[in-house]
Amino acid sequence: MKFDIVTIFPKMVEATLAEGIIARARANGLLDIRVHDLRDFTTDRHRVVDDVPFGGGPGMVLKPEPLFAAVEAICAKRSAEAASGRSGGEPAEDAGRREGGRAVVLTSPDGELLTHDVAVRLSALDHVVILCGRYEGVDERVREHLATDTISIGDYVVSGGELPALVIVDAVARLVPGVVGDEASVASDSFARSGLLDYPQYTRPAEFRGMPVPPVLLSGHHAEIEKWRREQALERTRKLRPDLIPEE
Ligand code: SAH
Repeated sequence: MKFDIVTIFPKMVEATLAEGIIARARANGLLDIRVHDLRDFTTDRHRVVDDVPFGGGPGMVLKPEPLFAAVEAICAKRSAEAASGRSGGEPAEDAGRREGGRAVVLTSPDGELLTHDVAVRLSALDHVVILCGRYEGVDERVREHLATDTISIGDYVVSGGELPALVIVDAVARLVPGVVGDEASVASDSFARSGLLDYPQYTRPAEFRGMPVPPVLLSGHHAEIEKWRREQALERTRKLRPDLIPEE
């Protein structure tokens, strides 16, 4: 799967993508992630990406021209590569399975809330472009005429779209087959398992400072363990997130 991230802080984004599961999947060719400096798409000598808001008010707003130029250049390049069969290392059968689809995602606190279902939707696409805002935000014409989706990571404001973009990439990439080594682990994660939270996990030692592990987990009885985990997941979801339980 292909991601392109457009930011004024490419080093900040690259640093995170260079570690862990995402880094391994990039090295394996399962993920083709490119990070772009928005300033590379300016045309003036000072590489200006922001300007004062029309109508007055505090702060600066990201200008539309470099963002439009970036998305157009990125999409043209990806399309040309796909046409010539150089899809950036992605295995051919993988490209075939998720044919065609592309999203241009604007990160914004007033966007659609990022949930498991949104991540599933994006993971079915072939190519996702993510635009990172800064300052007071982004010229509204980007949302109206360039972005296909506007996504928020939660009801709070962070200083830029870089962390939200990384959250989106990570949540979506985990759902791409092969990215997480053990696919059973993704299937049993919170939200994926029939929309419930995960069951409690324990590791050794079996007793720590007088706190024992639930005996059923040491029993070796797989059916009992599975039943206990289902009950725990349901009980935990009822207690912590009753809103996730489907109406009866
Ligand atoms: N003035 C804006 C906030 C701008 S924050 C407002 O009140 O809504 C600057 C940038 O950070 C935004 O353009 C967006 O790209 C990013 N950002 C901040 N909080 C975010 C969130 N919760 N989800 C997604 N992106 C966010």
